[in-house]
Amino acid sequence: NREWVLTARPTGLEFENCLELREGPLPEPGEGQVRVRNVYVSLEPATRLRMQRETYGPAIPLGAVVTGFTVGVVDASRYPGLREGAVVSIPGGWRAYSVVNGADARELPPGIPLPAWFSALGHIGISAWFGMMEIGQPKPGETVVVSAAAGAVGSQAGQLAKIHGCRVVGIAGSDEKCAWLTGELGFDAAVNYKQPDWEARLREACPKGVDVYFENVGGAVSEPVYALLNKHARVSLCGLISGYNDPGPTPGPKDFSLFLMKRVRLEGFIVSDYFPRANDAYERLVPWVREGRLKWRADVVEGMENLPTAFRKLFVGGNTGKLQVKVSDP
Ligand code: NDP
Repeated sequence: NREWVLTARPTGLEFENCLELREGPLPEPGEGQVRVRNVYVSLEPATRLRMQRETYGPAIPLGAVVTGFTVGVVDASRYPGLREGAVVSIPGGWRAYSVVNGADARELPPGIPLPAWFSALGHIGISAWFGMMEIGQPKPGETVVVSAAAGAVGSQAGQLAKIHGCRVVGIAGSDEKCAWLTGELGFDAAVNYKQPDWEARLREACPKGVDVYFENVGGAVSEPVYALLNKHARVSLCGLISGYNDPGPTPGPKDFSLFLMKRVRLEGFIVSDYFPRANDAYERLVPWVREGRLKWRADVVEGMENLPTAFRKLFVGGNTGKLQVKVSDP
């Protein structure tokens, strides 16, 4: 087997020398378990936090394999519910082969290409669905702003608000990303926060203010959005990636009184809390992905050995759509 092990706690973006690719024997499944040959490893911004410290779960212990979701093919099964050859999504970690309890594996529905799973479904789709629809509660005609909009969760969350009849404005870090949002995903406007006049562009794009903010980044990018929040706006707090490479606490809005004056409801969420309700999301999302109503893009890096360099892309805006590493052929 080949697996990436965390050997030290990283500082800033210097995580590559805190990771080591180790080789070992193939693991054997025990009773009730399956062995999966991973095909795609999904890369998550929050993994950077877990390399450092306890978050909503414990920190990754030093000497342990880096955690994460994978999709792959069952190649040995001692679990009656899954035959060899089944294509599954599992909490597989940064490994070539993973052994997991059969009950923790989810068979992919038919008609869904493998790279689409993490791009529009799985934990990404569930975050977008519940974060937008249940926490954001967008109403037709309202203005919805999404940050890191050309990333995995953001691109899906924005499309869901669009399907729901909202005016959707994305914030992203390049003109190409903005063109993808408006040209292909149907966003009404997209603003490149790396352009000097971007705050004025954002105000122009939100002439009636902001009713729902799907927050993925925090920090400087979010300040101008907070200033535009309408009375009774909702902030769905999905992530704060701008702070993940800093060791200290992530600062909140500079002017918190805005939230009071505008009667804003802010709610953070962690996707795993919604896993028991995943089917409520998939009921809508799976057909929409099959029909092409929900569009997706997989940003695929090839090769197990490239996992750490690929991971860096998340923090420098190197990915469009869902970043995943292909570690074997389907
Ligand atoms: P993305 O595919 O969105 O990739 C991250 C993107 O964030 C980058 O491409 C970059 O795009 C943007 N970014 C990085 N650093 C900054 C910065 N300092 N300021 C502004 N933008 C930045 O990743 P995901 O879709 O997987 O995750 C998006 C967010 O959602 C993260 O915060 C993540 O932690 C969170 N999340 C939360 C979950 C939950 O349970 N609450 C579940 C899954 C994800 P750009 O070029 O636009 O800068």
